[in-house]
Amino acid sequence: ATTNLDTLHAALTDIETITDPNQVAKLSQDYHTFSPVLVPKLAGKVGDIVVRPANEAEVIKVAATCAKLRIPITVRGAGTGNYGQCVPMHGGVILDMTKMQEILWVKPGVARVQAGVKLATLDKKAKGSGWEMRMAPSTYRTATIGGFIAGGSGGIGSIQYGLLGDRGNLLALRVVTLEDEPRAIELRGDDVQKVNHAWGINGIITEVEIPLGSAYPWAEVIVTFDNFMTAAKFGQSLGNADGMIKKIISIFASPIPQYFSALQQYIPDSTHAALLMIAEPSLELLPGLVQQYGGQITYQKPAQEAGKGLNLAEFTWNHTTLHARSVDTSITYLQSIFPADKGLELVEELYDYFGEEVMMHLEFIRVNGRVVPAALQLVRYTTETRLNEIIHYHEAKGVFIANPHTYIIEDGGRKVIDPEQLKFKEMVDPYGLMNPGKSKVLEFKVN
Ligand code: FAD
Repeated sequence: ATTNLDTLHAALTDIETITDPNQVAKLSQDYHTFSPVLVPKLAGKVGDIVVRPANEAEVIKVAATCAKLRIPITVRGAGTGNYGQCVPMHGGVILDMTKMQEILWVKPGVARVQAGVKLATLDKKAKGSGWEMRMAPSTYRTATIGGFIAGGSGGIGSIQYGLLGDRGNLLALRVVTLEDEPRAIELRGDDVQKVNHAWGINGIITEVEIPLGSAYPWAEVIVTFDNFMTAAKFGQSLGNADGMIKKIISIFASPIPQYFSALQQYIPDSTHAALLMIAEPSLELLPGLVQQYGGQITYQKPAQEAGKGLNLAEFTWNHTTLHARSVDTSITYLQSIFPADKGLELVEELYDYFGEEVMMHLEFIRVNGRVVPAALQLVRYTTETRLNEIIHYHEAKGVFIANPHTYIIEDGGRKVIDPEQLKFKEMVDPYGLMNPGKSKVLEFKVN
């Protein structure tokens, strides 16, 4: 293998590489550390070399060299993924895409960018012409668009637009293959699903065409409640109010808000909280709805102060887990979607059943035209067996769990092997070199 790597290094002299072992080890990591189950399983997994292509021609050159020498490639954006998606299981090349940062164009309602563009950068650029990202993970400040598409699922904005995998939320992708003679293939329409959320095993995304949403002035609001289920019902009701435009409806059962030290003065002990982002034209309607559910508005920041002081978005989605873990590292989490017909009933049943072992953190999202509670519950972790019991209990009740404690793609959110993705995989990665070890069906064919 060493000679192969030397050959690789020699072939890539005009492309930036990193071989310093400390740097390579750092760039082999992601945020799977949120999972006590994944940490021991991924310990010590490092790449051999980091390669940083500046453009698609360089990506093709790296791909051709790796295909010829049968060296695995693990693609990396910002490395903020939570499932060890960009931790290399079999060494090889870490392909760092962060130099490919060009915003190719922004038109009304759509943008085309290179894969390494940061979500916040695209958002800012689009806002200049009245548009913004439809949805973004709470890591938007650092995460790349290629990493979001290959490894993420939705986030801030999903209450309005649904998830990334929903038809229409991704318009086109350009991917480089790992064939003997690598090509760049453009996928449009439903074909984008061949690569969407494929964890970099189905080609290297070099460009993305993504639809945008209207850029509203977003106000940030905290509402507190004495009763958790009242807070949850308020969230559902605000979600259902189609005329009120919102970007985040996050509901936290006590004691979760106590992990948000910066918000302490707005959330009294033992109360439950809603963190909201609402379009300013809809704000006038909010106090009436809050009153109907017996809540208290304790904090409100106008859109014109966005970017100053507190940023409520960075307490929602998986940032909630980040804040909780900064206080208590034994805390981990689940990712759930409750069924549309009996969502809140099940939320209540599971809230009562698990008590503080599984603390409720709801994120309302739109699924197939209906607003449902999704959740990133915080779990007080004891053992892997107990964690699996908790997961199975939810599933038996009809809650969908995208298990964040596995690095096997089919065992996470996907559940089944998508035959279209598989067919595409066989074509673009004939030697099984792309992020090997992450899929059940396709094992690394060399060694
Ligand atoms: P990486 O972690 O670098 O990569 C993710 C996956 O994509 C890997 O499998 C990698 O191989 C692949 N990949 C990266 N670039 C390419 C490319 N160009 N071509 C092919 N494959 C590629 N996720 C959400 O969906 N919603 C959230 O709200 C959310 N909140 C988070 C909060 C915290 C605190 C943390 C730590 C994570 C959160 N995440 C969330 C997960 C993650 O931050 C996002 O999914 C993010 O968009 C990933 O982007 P990245 O550039 O860091 O990708």
